[in-house]
Amino acid sequence: MKTLSAIFFDIDDTLYSTSEFARIARRNAVEAMVHAGLRREVDVLVGELDEVVKEFGSNDKNHLDTLLSRSSPEDYGPTNPLVIVAAGIVAYHRTKSRGMKPYEDVVEFFKMFQRTSVLCGVISSGIGVKQAEKLIRLDLVRYFDAQHIVITDQIGIDKGSPELYRVACESAEVDPEEAIMVGDHPSLDIDSANLAGLHTIWLKRGGKYADAKGNTAPDYEIRDFWDLMEILRQDFGVDFSLST
Ligand SMILES: [Mg+2]
Repeated sequence: MKTLSAIFFDIDDTLYSTSEFARIARRNAVEAMVHAGLRREVDVLVGELDEVVKEFGSNDKNHLDTLLSRSSPEDYGPTNPLVIVAAGIVAYHRTKSRGMKPYEDVVEFFKMFQRTSVLCGVISSGIGVKQAEKLIRLDLVRYFDAQHIVITDQIGIDKGSPELYRVACESAEVDPEEAIMVGDHPSLDIDSANLAGLHTIWLKRGGKYADAKGNTAPDYEIRDFWDLMEILRQDFGVDFSLST
């Protein structure tokens, strides 16, 4: 039996379907822009918006302005372009407040896992407050040890570096050999954590990295958090029956 002192989770496409959420939110934004007066095909605009996000990165603040700037004023006149952009922004945020939900098995897992004595943390890359906001919106923050929510932007170490995982274990005062990283990205979540000496679990739920390959093999591959529970029970001796 292996010893488990800490388990860390990635956020995007691990705790909820970030790809699916982004797809729906972008479509809703574009539909609202068309509804507000932009006379172009929704499907074409969705494609252009995906391009804009790719070019400027997912954390850029002006995706919809950029998108509209790629249309001719004849496509939306006499409507004020600011109104069209604002309609898209509101629709995007509305999707965020209504539609951001964790995977069902994730919630069930944490409900049972929270009664164990294993430290539970997050290792995520992105803008600090944006990643923290996701944990709040998903209503999952209560399941994590508050001082072990590690976000790259705040720490100043990228997920591509094993150092991030070493720092996370060090601050949790656990031996990497007694820690697990669970994530969907074959290099950022798996390779880096492998190099730092953690056990690694690759979640392949069919998200965008499901067919990607890292340089190292994960210790385990799972399809959902029920699989995770089985591994923790069988190989790490985690007792979920403590839960009520
Ligand atoms: Mg991820």
